[in-house]
Amino acid sequence: MTKAEFPTTQALATPALGEPYLLTPGPLTTSKATKEAMLRDWGSWDVSFNQVTAEVRQNLLSMAGIKDDSFVCVPLQGSGSYSVEAALATAIPRDGKALVLMNGAYGQRATKTLEYLGRAFITLDKGDYLPPQPEEVDALLRDNPDVTNVFLVHCETSSGILNPLRQIADVVNAHGKSLIIDAMSSFGAVPLAVDEIPFDVVVSSANKCIEGIPGFGFVIIRRSVIEAAKGRANSLSLDLYEQWVYMERTGQWRFTPPTHSVVAFHKALEQHTAEGGVHGRLARYTRNRDVLVTGMRELGFRTLLEDRWLSPIITTFFSPEHPNFEFKRFYDELKARQFIIYPGKLTVAESFRIGCIGQIDEYIVHQLLRAIADSLVAMNVDMQQPTG
Ligand SMILES: *Cc1c(COP(=O)(O)O)cnc(C)c1O
Repeated sequence: MTKAEFPTTQALATPALGEPYLLTPGPLTTSKATKEAMLRDWGSWDVSFNQVTAEVRQNLLSMAGIKDDSFVCVPLQGSGSYSVEAALATAIPRDGKALVLMNGAYGQRATKTLEYLGRAFITLDKGDYLPPQPEEVDALLRDNPDVTNVFLVHCETSSGILNPLRQIADVVNAHGKSLIIDAMSSFGAVPLAVDEIPFDVVVSSANKCIEGIPGFGFVIIRRSVIEAAKGRANSLSLDLYEQWVYMERTGQWRFTPPTHSVVAFHKALEQHTAEGGVHGRLARYTRNRDVLVTGMRELGFRTLLEDRWLSPIITTFFSPEHPNFEFKRFYDELKARQFIIYPGKLTVAESFRIGCIGQIDEYIVHQLLRAIADSLVAMNVDMQQPTG
């Protein structure tokens, strides 16, 4: 079967000739409209750009279900990790203590960040992909009453697991502790509303489920928490309190903003709304994930996670144990067919990851599955043979 026999996508524009689909969250494949929004220059202090910033901040608060002024949204230059670092330094008092729930690379990065910041912490380390359980969090908080903040990654992008946020948030809330959520790869596609999930801080960035380009992250933070954080930061450029105060006073970013990225994000938010907001996006990503997982299983691949832990964001597959399978070659074969995938991040087994987010739909996933089948043929990997 050739590519032409698959229905082509209706809703989404195909990338320019030779431009691959990025199944790597993120950066990810953005829409033509989002790219085109970057075709002009903006004065960083100009009232038109300030208006864009204000609308972005307000829109993100609404997306988190915030209806009053009990929370603020503070965007910050840099990739998502810059915003996580700023959020940790803001929300955790210098004499505070964090409980970091870890099951992958991003939980690990949080502990490394806390070491740099000189904040005390304990961890619950579940290894590569097992979910932290609410009962475990409950027991740890009972045994460690000096813990002030709990950090959880919503979707651990390193394995693709969707952690049990709601149950853990309830436990943290029952202990009266402050919850910091790394919702980097889920915000905008997996519902997260403050009246359902009690949190103090949510962090995400421009180039994940809102489908913008890289350049900044944002922190949605309880007003009382940021108000108490004057002088707490360890770094001038990552001082979220000062960024907030300056933005409130002037409408501007404190230092040079990534203007084109902000304007592209503003355009991406319009498309997010037009698609039906968080629920519309969740529906498309879930469909992408279901078509992907079903098709990959038909080809003979196995997922790392059981179905109930699979996120609609990214899925980890075990590499086949066939002697001819080599990830680098597989990657190159797929790239030649216009698809860029992710290597795995597991310590225990060979694996690779495929993202379901960005401007892709189920038709493009069908094309991907065909490309994967063709790549396996090109590599002489017969998936029907038992691989042990
Ligand atoms: C992408 C991501 C981050 C931030 O990574 P950057 O490379 O700094 O943008 C943090 N946490 C999670 C869960 C992520 O998926």
